[in-house]
Order: sequence, then structure tokens, then C-alpha cells
Amino acid sequence: AKKQGRNCHFWFDASMENEIRFRNQLETGIRRGLLQREFVPYYEQQVDIDSGELVGFEMLARWQSEQLGLVSPEIFIPVAEEMGVITQLSEQLMEQAFADAREWDESLSLSINISPVQLRDPWFAQRLLKKLIAANFPPARLEIEITESCLHENIGLVRSMITSLRNQGVQISLDDFGTGYSSLEQLRHLQFDRIKIDRSFISELREPTGRARIVEAIIAMGRGLDLPLTAEGVEDQEILAALRAMGRLKAQGYLYGKPEPAEKVRQRLAAQGKL
Ligand code: C2E
Ligand code: CA
Ligand code: CA
Ligand code: CA
Repeated sequence: AKKQGRNCHFWFDASMENEIRFRNQLETGIRRGLLQREFVPYYEQQVDIDSGELVGFEMLARWQSEQLGLVSPEIFIPVAEEMGVITQLSEQLMEQAFADAREWDESLSLSINISPVQLRDPWFAQRLLKKLIAANFPPARLEIEITESCLHENIGLVRSMITSLRNQGVQISLDDFGTGYSSLEQLRHLQFDRIKIDRSFISELREPTGRARIVEAIIAMGRGLDLPLTAEGVEDQEILAALRAMGRLKAQGYLYGKPEPAEKVRQRLAAQGKL
């Protein structure tokens, strides 16, 4: 028993040590990556279901790390938030994304994801507008995506931020809708421009489960509040057909293609005469 205990103890230490080592490696890598500008925007197509037209792109961050290869935002965004460098990281990505999107047809919008940590900065809206002006990118083509978790804290600050951005023409979307706890009251008061229905609901449209009803209910609610809707995670024709029947939606997902780097987007748009 003693031996087993010791083994157990040893195992515990080793895994903790590995975890700490990996975490340190990530933090060092992220600092380096910021200096070397290793963070790059990828873009996912957004399509109007009724017309089939491409209407814009969502920017999704990728880390092209020298040591680790292409790293998912689900790994590095939470670490960057805890390290206090998420604003710097996001602003590097914005600069690239505004420069990329400025070359696209002006009918195409650009969506960017904003972390709740960024929204705690009272100067967020001012900094963003300054970046837009510096990049000569029209605010009306920009959409920012915030999640319901932003709404728990400091609702007054978030509301005034939304107001000043909207006054400049920036659109505000509520991302991952249905996974958090926003109340109808918040939806009514916060003046969003769009609701994005979370992928977890959309993926279940393949089968006649109860979730199809949830999607229908979210759509009915959005329409009741005069809010346009986007379905995320549209993976196949079956899901698309179900959504098309519900009418007047935008969609994005692997059916239209995986997120791709700026150069691929340029080629795609050139082929469509949208550059
Ligand atoms: P999200 O905003 O909900 O973005 C959608 C995620 O779903 C993306 O993952 C996208 O690649 C993936 N996806 C799109 N279509 C499909 C589909 O049909 N099927 C499946 N299975 N997945 C699909 P990604 O790029 O790994 O991003 C993950 C999350 O990281 C994003 O979720 C977003 O919350 C966050 N994120 C990405 N870029 C940024 C950023 O620049 N700033 C911040 N704060 N967060 C970011
Ligand atoms: Ca998003
Ligand atoms: Ca989302
Ligand atoms: Ca999501």
C-alpha cells in the first residue's frame, strides 16, 4: 500500500509538472508570438440562405507557432485573457483583418469576436473606432460578436459601449445564443443588431429531435424582437434545407467551407468578381 501511495504521489507530481511546463511554454510562446506577429486571421464565409449570396466573413484567430504549429483559438485565447494580453492580441488581428477586408467588395461585411475581458476596458469603443479610422475601414461594414457571458458583469458599461459603437454604424451581434443566460429583458434593452444561434442547436436539425423546436422558438423570438438571425455550424444539405424552410436567415459553417487564410479568400473573391 505504501508503494502504491508513493507511485500515486509520483504520478500526480509528474502530471502537474507537465501541466505547468506546458502552460509556461504556452505563455512564453504567446509573448514571442505577439512580438513576431505569429497570430493570423482566418476567415469563414457567411451566406444569405434565401439568395445563396456570400454576404461577409467571420474572422477567426489562428496562431502559427514555430514550436507548436497551427494552434486553435480555444487553446490560446483563454491563456491570453489570463495573461492580460488579449487586447494586444486582438488589436494585432484587427489591423490585419481591416487591411484584408478593405480589399474585398464593399458589399461584404467583416465580423470579429470580442472577449468579455476586452469589454471590461472602458475605452474599448474609443480604441476600436480609432483603429477603424487608422485603417480607413468603414464602421458600417464591421460587426462585432459578443457572447452572453459579457452580459453578466457591468451591464451599464456594456450598454454604453454598444450605444457608442452603434452610433458610428458598427453592428453588434449576440454570439452563441442559447448557451448562456441572457434574459429577454436584456435583449430588448441592449439593442443588438443580430442573434447568432449556437452550433449545438443547429447540428441537431438533421434529425426530428426536440432541438428543431428550440431553433424554431429562437427564430420566432428573434423575429418578435425584430432581430435578424444567423445560424452557425451549418454542416450539410440536410441542415440547410431545414433552415431554408424557416426562411430569412444567414448561415455559416463547413458546408460553405472551413475558415481559410486571407490569400485563399482573395482567390475566392477574385473568381466571383468581388475583389
Ligand atoms: P465561435 O465564434 O463560435 O466560432 C465558430 C467556431 O466553430 C470556429 O472555431 C469555427 O471554425 C467552427 N465552425 C464553423 N463552422 C463549423 C461547422 O460547420 N462545424 C463545426 N463542427 N465547427 C464549425 P474556431 O475557429 O476554432 O474558434 C473557436 C472559438 O474561438 C470561436 O467560437 C470564438 O469564440 C473564439 N475565437 C476565435 N477567434 C477569436 C478572436 O479573434 N477573439 C476572441 N476573443 N475569440 C476568438
Ligand atoms: Ca463568433
Ligand atoms: Ca458562435
Ligand atoms: Ca459557438
